[in-house]
Amino acid sequence: MSTSVTPVPASTSPAFPGGTVLGYPRIGRRRELKRAVEAFWAGRTTAAELEATAADLRLATVQRLVELGLDPSDGSVPGSFSSYDQVLDVVATLGAVPARFTPLTDAAGRLDAAAYFTVARGAGDDAPLEMTKWFDTNYHYLVPEIGPDTPISFVDDRFVAAFSEARAAGVVTRPVVVGPVTFLALSKAADGAPEGFRPLDRLDDVVAAYADLLRALAAAGAPWVQLDEPALVTDSVDVAFPELSDAVARAYGALATDLTAGTDRPAILVTAPFGDLRGAPLAGGDARDGLALLAGTDVDAVAIDLVKGAVPTGAVAGLASKTLVAGVVDGHNVWRADLAAKLDVVDSLAGLGAGAVAVGTSTSLLHVPHDVDDEVFGGPGTPGTVLDPRLRDWLAFADQKVAEVVTLARAVVDGRDAVADALAASSAAVASRATAEGVVVPAVRDRAAALTDDDFARGPYAERAAAQSARLDLPALPTTTIGSFPQTPEIRRARAQWTKGQLSDADYTTAMREEVARVVRIQEDLGLDVLVHGEPERNDMVQYFAEHLDGFAVTANGWVQSYGSRCVRPPILWGDVQRPAPITVEWSAYTASLTDKPVKGMLTGPVTILAWSFVRDDQPLGDTANQVGLALRDEIADLEAAGIGIVQVDEPALRELLPLRRADQPAYLDWSVRSFRLATSGVEAGTQIHTHLCYSEFGEVIGAIDGLDADVTSVEAARSRMEIVPELRGAGYARGIGPGVYDIHSPRVPSVDEVTELLQLAATSIDPRVVWVNPDCGLKTRRYEETVPSLEHLVAAAKAVRATL
Ligand code: GLN
Ligand code: ZN
Repeated sequence: MSTSVTPVPASTSPAFPGGTVLGYPRIGRRRELKRAVEAFWAGRTTAAELEATAADLRLATVQRLVELGLDPSDGSVPGSFSSYDQVLDVVATLGAVPARFTPLTDAAGRLDAAAYFTVARGAGDDAPLEMTKWFDTNYHYLVPEIGPDTPISFVDDRFVAAFSEARAAGVVTRPVVVGPVTFLALSKAADGAPEGFRPLDRLDDVVAAYADLLRALAAAGAPWVQLDEPALVTDSVDVAFPELSDAVARAYGALATDLTAGTDRPAILVTAPFGDLRGAPLAGGDARDGLALLAGTDVDAVAIDLVKGAVPTGAVAGLASKTLVAGVVDGHNVWRADLAAKLDVVDSLAGLGAGAVAVGTSTSLLHVPHDVDDEVFGGPGTPGTVLDPRLRDWLAFADQKVAEVVTLARAVVDGRDAVADALAASSAAVASRATAEGVVVPAVRDRAAALTDDDFARGPYAERAAAQSARLDLPALPTTTIGSFPQTPEIRRARAQWTKGQLSDADYTTAMREEVARVVRIQEDLGLDVLVHGEPERNDMVQYFAEHLDGFAVTANGWVQSYGSRCVRPPILWGDVQRPAPITVEWSAYTASLTDKPVKGMLTGPVTILAWSFVRDDQPLGDTANQVGLALRDEIADLEAAGIGIVQVDEPALRELLPLRRADQPAYLDWSVRSFRLATSGVEAGTQIHTHLCYSEFGEVIGAIDGLDADVTSVEAARSRMEIVPELRGAGYARGIGPGVYDIHSPRVPSVDEVTELLQLAATSIDPRVVWVNPDCGLKTRRYEETVPSLEHLVAAAKAVRATL
């Protein structure tokens, strides 16, 4: 008898749960974490008190997820808490702290609570880690700085401790960690790193540290760990796909193949949220296929985004040994799903040949508010944050989405009949939304359908420039501001009282008009050439318009983390957009009545309004943008009729909404530019259109900025020392430019000489006749003590440079 060796099973992975969510909001239903960290920063509480609040919040979160139907025993519940940022948590775990902060670490290389926040927020001359947008969300992460000598090893057990803490409370979580490849792809080279060094050069060190982390999680009893690798779906990281794919093969070879599942490591789920893992061929290369790439590794489960990404077809080699987590529930938007349709998608994945298919969210639920039931629903037309009652049925925030996943998972296991009522209810809700009054407004549709190319175009610039210069009679290098003046404590107090009903509409309006009058006097005293009203009446540049347009709702508690302790409450754009009445006209007309100087009206552009809202998902974004564009077009026509000769339409989010994949960018740039032109092209030649963009690195949008066809474009430029001016001209832009000469992001007051020097740089690199003089951005976050002297210096510098022309 021959002795045959029994093959060792390739993996002893536990089964992946039938349903899960990729992450959950961590700020707290009532922003408890925000309050706790801010109290700690202010020195009002100790690190121990902060940690106690954070622990309560973690516990409440995992218990809530179990209550909503996730299994407490198998790793269904994500352990996705962070006190500030998930990327910073990896920095802390690896001790990968930039040299300027290493004095804050202990002997083992760890950051305590205070030091952790110092890396996030900076201290004295030590700048914090840079912050930037997390893929196509409005969340911002901290950018790690990695050099050849950055310490990297597994020094901090925060992920393990959070797992053990939940386990002690009876919930076996699945720790959620940014994956090693994405971590490095998002990092920047540390200052002083040699030419040619790239953070990805440290992959082996990072992977070795992750291996230790996985060993520690396995030892603590974690059945699963989730490693997020969204870098795989994007063209927006600095690492090209072939290189990413090589890094993935190396990293997961070391983590999944070399470590034994169940003993050395938990089973590994790799997620790829925010887009399609497969994609159009790269220029001159092969089609990218991140799904085949991940399927070819020894990880145990792969989660794909089936909301942003296409539904894959065809057998995928290697998937047979894995669970495919079908991200069918949208983690990034607030609409209730049609569960039967989602089940069809799940069913259609059978042909891929995965070992099992589970149900998941497309992304972490970090990007949506906690709970629809935290909102107040009243009758239609109820003011403020009381929502139209029909929205209750149409919306799904994080908690509702967990329930959707649980229902879908049950249908996969027990059949659709087991959840027939839930399926019927969800289909009914989706159907009621599709036909509801206000969702489709025939008048809006008819107007959009009748648009022609002429509605998107103004006359030749030369004619406009001549008409405008005759009308406005401005000096060379005209001075202006970006719109807002400081929002003083008095303004905020008045608004808070008004919102609570303690101040009448009339008294509130009077208080804001007094503020406008004050802002006009200040600008006249300063000698600015083009005046603004200062925007005191606006709580936020998007919410203000959402409150005044049909088709939007504003929530009471729909907070979403933007970064750190900062939260935003995005409006919900649910229906066809119309302007029931003029919004800003009275404010601008009143302002104009107070001065002989030209007054600039101030609006937020369609792209920015969409970017900072939750937008309906039942029609192309471009159609929605055009509806907003038409509403703004009417507003601009009314401003023009009221005698306002200059209107600024802010588009700070133009670059933000740029799709992650290059192949998708031209279509985006086309509709975004068209919506702006639709808003702004109804005016006479003599009416001057400005736009403002909050940044100085234009990249892929530089052509689009020219395409906006604004008469004057103001941009951030002080920090980058006017580099953008010749760049913009080089890209063909040939109209007015207002490069910011005063950096409003700092409380510093720039001297006359400094501003003069910047202005001279601009005025000598291009024709000075097109240059405007303005700050980098709005002044609302500054104080008058800084604003007034800074603007004085700005005006003085303009006069000095004018004299040299
Ligand atoms: N007009 C706005 C302001 O001045 C512009 C803000 C922005 O660019 N984000 O506040
Ligand atoms: Zn700005």
